[in-house]
Amino acid sequence: MTTIIREMREQFNPAKPSECIGQIELFTLDETKAVVARAQKAFEGWKNTSSIARGEILRVTADLLEQNSEKVAEMASREMGKTKGEMLGEVKRGASILRYFAQEGMRATGEVLPSTSEAKVLYTKRVPLGVVAAITPWNFPVAIPLWKIAPALVYGNTVVWKPSIEAALTGKLIGELFEQAGMPKNVLNVVQGRGSKVGQVLLEAPEVRAITFTGSNGVGQSILNTAGPTNKKIQLELGGKNAAIILADANINRAARLTIEGAMKQTGQRCTATSRVYVEEAVYEEILEHLIIEAKKIEVGVTMGPVSSKGQYDAILSAIEQAKSDGAELVLGGCPTKDKSEGYYIDPTIFTNVTHNMAIAREEIFGPVLAVMKVKDYEEAIRLSNDSEFGLSASIYTNNIQKAFDFIERSEVGLVQVNDETGGAEPQAPFGGMKNSSTGAREQGQAAKEFFTVFKTITIGTQSI
Ligand code: NAP
Ligand code: MG
Repeated sequence: MTTIIREMREQFNPAKPSECIGQIELFTLDETKAVVARAQKAFEGWKNTSSIARGEILRVTADLLEQNSEKVAEMASREMGKTKGEMLGEVKRGASILRYFAQEGMRATGEVLPSTSEAKVLYTKRVPLGVVAAITPWNFPVAIPLWKIAPALVYGNTVVWKPSIEAALTGKLIGELFEQAGMPKNVLNVVQGRGSKVGQVLLEAPEVRAITFTGSNGVGQSILNTAGPTNKKIQLELGGKNAAIILADANINRAARLTIEGAMKQTGQRCTATSRVYVEEAVYEEILEHLIIEAKKIEVGVTMGPVSSKGQYDAILSAIEQAKSDGAELVLGGCPTKDKSEGYYIDPTIFTNVTHNMAIAREEIFGPVLAVMKVKDYEEAIRLSNDSEFGLSASIYTNNIQKAFDFIERSEVGLVQVNDETGGAEPQAPFGGMKNSSTGAREQGQAAKEFFTVFKTITIGTQSI
């Protein structure tokens, strides 16, 4: 037996970058190929395991995740910076995702159809695809992987999961919980390493039949370029530049509070974060004042964590500098947090005097930065909110039912919110965006079936031969 020499990587705490929180062993390329081959071998047995038994392992994993919620939340919080409270919420959500998909093992996977011939039985059956590669980001280190892995497994696929290198230790912990829950060997495989290395192996591996990815548009595009021509099934959940609209008749306090929550929760590092807000001119001054009051309530280091890495920190600060030099007016924050110079902390930041063509109005920042824009009326707001390459989520705050319904119809996004912030997903509801925010079938809910299975159509002649 040959010994594999793996490269080690140290993980650091973004709240205190001098603190090493652990080491992770990175997989070699050959090892990753071998993992894929083993996942392919395990497919037959897993596919032929009853879906109820498959679901039961997910249910047990949910219980274990809850029993270990402190440990998982603590690890993830130290690894990618989200506050412990935010992480505990995410872990709870992870358990709900597992339970929802555990139940899927008991639901119908096909239907009986009428046939033109009385002597035929015609029916459909959803079957798994084979080996699924899941490539995930760091920003939801528990929930996003689980909403890919759980449906993939319950429908009978085997999985090779590459967590973000920035959330590798959390990924390892999650993998161990599945193992403890009784997942057969080689059915769920966690591979660790850089996307450009082990991730690339997964994209190229002939055994991989489907790739489910959440991350940036740049990487999403390179996945399409590499794996698209090979006829693998591809699902991409990408970036956003999510708009909120506040109309003059809205509940001002609520609209301001939720807009700040939408923008700053998880330090703005959510694909569904509110990053631009269009305010009707009649209430603009009042809203701006309330937005600032709400943002000032955030206690950096207590209710808001650091950003996840030095790379994120530099990118966000440089987007802030860009906005300033483009002529936007900084009304709050815009700099590293003063008494927290050690960690990657950035103050909640608000810009006004933003024009539609500025980078801050068009490009994803993925940090605690909100652009506030004054509009004449609802028509101008919907036009500007739709004028974006992205289409993930959008909100409107209004008490006018006609305008709310008009917004639901005309908003070019996958997730529409009325009188609520742009973020938020529930396991039973389809999740995904339009335009450059998503490619392929929706995630979560019953929609997840679309991606992780394929139909077989079966015809049985019932006449004796
Ligand atoms: P990212 O840089 O695109 O990375 C995502 C994953 O892809 C990581 O595991 C990464 O590996 C891997 N990867 C990188 N290059 C690769 C390659 N050439 N081949 C295969 N895999 C590769 O994204 P991120 O910085 O982790 O996350 C932030 C982004 O995710 C934001 O743009 C955000 O909007 C998006 N996001 C979208 C959603 C959604 O549902 N729409 C949800 C959350 C986040 P490494 O470990 O090497 O980085
Ligand atoms: Mg990245």
